[in-house]
Amino acid sequence: MQRLVLATRNAHKVSELRAILADAGLDVELVGADAFPEVPDTKETGVSFAENASLKAHALAQATGLPAIADDSGLCVDVLGGAPGIFSARWAGRHGDDRANLDLLLAQLADIDSEHRAAHFACAAALAMPDGTEHVVEGRLDGTLRHAPEGDGGFGYDPILQPEGETRTCAQLTPQEKNAISHRGRAFRALVPVIREALG
Ligand code: IMP
Repeated sequence: MQRLVLATRNAHKVSELRAILADAGLDVELVGADAFPEVPDTKETGVSFAENASLKAHALAQATGLPAIADDSGLCVDVLGGAPGIFSARWAGRHGDDRANLDLLLAQLADIDSEHRAAHFACAAALAMPDGTEHVVEGRLDGTLRHAPEGDGGFGYDPILQPEGETRTCAQLTPQEKNAISHRGRAFRALVPVIREALG
């Protein structure tokens, strides 16, 4: 069975993509970057989600000799010209401090009315082959930002993004509901035919 490696140490992301590949009937074995503890994480030096996903996928494909998948995602706010964007995980300064990031963003947007609070989650997913070829796809989830967080599920900016056509925030959706519409779910599903083609 063909092995594929996903550039993440997040077990949840690995199972999410595994489920999508299994649903699509792809006979592949997906492992996370944890299967290669000797391989260092790649610095995200790109200036777009696509560039970062591509950098991470190429580095892992070169290091492991396996087809590698990587994703990069974040929140883009219209009135902020697309920020936090690639800086989403460290908007308040410290990488991964979800609560501080969300609080800072809400403070910055305090005077902005609901009609101007359009935002979307964006995700780029890249497949890199050991021979250096690559494919990058993107997915997004459009919505508006609430004035205060609501909901206990999810992570990051989920409690303040209300998807288009929803009355709940992402943090109030079940994981299945969120995966069905999420930027990452869409990007990973768009990658399925690309993987099928690349693996022959
Ligand atoms: P990563 O590229 O998946 O590590 O995501 C980078 C950052 O973007 C995260 O730390 C979150 O702040 C934000 N983000 C990405 N995807 C989501 C999501 O589905 N919900 C909430 N926040 C997200």
